[in-house]
Amino acid sequence: MDEKKILIIGYGKSGRAAASAMTKLGWQVYVYDDFLKDLKLSYQDKGINFIYDSSQIFTEEFNLYVKSPGIKPNNPLIKSLKDQGKKIISDIELGYLFKGPEKIIGVTGTNGKTTTTSFIDYFLKKTKIKTKAVGNIGYGAVEDMIFTDKDILTIECSSFQLEDIDTFKANIAVITNVESDHLDYHGSLAAYIQAKVNILKNLGQDDFAILNFDDPILKKQDGNFKKIYFSSKTPLDSGFYCDGHLIYLIEDQKKKALINCQELIVKGSHNYENLMAGLAVAYALGLDLDLVIEAAYSFTGVKHRLEFVREYKGVAYYNDSKATNSASTKKAVEAFSRPLILLLGGYDKNEDFTELLKTIKDKIKVLIIYGQTKDKIFAIASDLAYEKIFKVDNLEAALIKAYDLAEENDLVLLSPASASWDQYKNFEDRGDEFINLVNKIK
Ligand code: ADP
Repeated sequence: MDEKKILIIGYGKSGRAAASAMTKLGWQVYVYDDFLKDLKLSYQDKGINFIYDSSQIFTEEFNLYVKSPGIKPNNPLIKSLKDQGKKIISDIELGYLFKGPEKIIGVTGTNGKTTTTSFIDYFLKKTKIKTKAVGNIGYGAVEDMIFTDKDILTIECSSFQLEDIDTFKANIAVITNVESDHLDYHGSLAAYIQAKVNILKNLGQDDFAILNFDDPILKKQDGNFKKIYFSSKTPLDSGFYCDGHLIYLIEDQKKKALINCQELIVKGSHNYENLMAGLAVAYALGLDLDLVIEAAYSFTGVKHRLEFVREYKGVAYYNDSKATNSASTKKAVEAFSRPLILLLGGYDKNEDFTELLKTIKDKIKVLIIYGQTKDKIFAIASDLAYEKIFKVDNLEAALIKAYDLAEENDLVLLSPASASWDQYKNFEDRGDEFINLVNKIK
């Protein structure tokens, strides 16, 4: 077989980036997607061979098989191909096989990937490095990995992408934390953890692993690479440490305060952890730390993640629409010391809100509940003797209620602990509506 034929399974952002890059490299590109007939194709798809009938996949021979991150490993097509001995790789592995000379920073973890990737990208830009953030953050990685004119690419990597790597290696690999998630996809917690730590497997002695020391799994990781730890719990002998107020760099057991957390625009201990991971990357790259620290103070955060919207008549409004589960709403509430008016509720994922409502009770002045989960949350909050609880139909009504009740120094927080699909297409739409409504208040 002297032709170079590639099959790309899945035609979303990453599949499209892969198809476009491989076409430019002169490969014959074949694409299969279960929903191909529903997809809008454009002139950019010219030259690609679309396969509408999956049986065709088994009558042709391809040199490479690439699986998009959204397709589960137990997908019947993937399983059949694997049973036939085909090697299936992820998009970042494909990019790596044809990669240019740039350095790669890989960021993974259960929570904080996008924020940490954004911190790193911001630091690199502020220190005038030619750089781009790609991958899970919203840009398929392959095209940039192969044709980039940048010096560094920061790739946000999901466990889905890391599961099918073979040679992929970052120069600096960051793991923010590893908690139980996506078990439906990986089959077991062990498989999920293995996929995350896969990012370390090819690191060499000149490469860095940046790891959360407070995470028992990450603390244990070892290999023939350099390590930089960060911690919010243990003052380390070397690395980055946050005591809740200051972030320190520790070298040879000497502590140097770098950042006053109270002066940061981003809030919350989880964001201080994301920032420490970003600082550790800057340190590993030998960037000018003074410039990086200055940049940290001007970093406004990532949209829909504890995003400051407006202060009006002494009341602050924050959008945390990305908080689609109890764990992230808990983090959001912990981030503030002002009296909180919390807007909660949305699509019912069968989550039990008891633990969340117990933990945050002392910090909540008013609870306003809306969406599909409203009755369930209302019942739990009543049992827990919350004093001020209001049930309304939708986000707009919730905000009007919040505005009516808010007093000077209060903080109105949309952190719904629920997905958005009962009333919105996605969490971005929900957050955008909140921002629009808040900006209309007068
Ligand atoms: P990811 O890309 O991994 O989903 P994001 O940076 O988009 O992470 O943050 C998603 C949500 O997860 C945030 O709204 C916040 O509530 C929570 N979060 C962010 N960083 C952390 C962290 N380091 N530890 C725990 N939770 C976090």
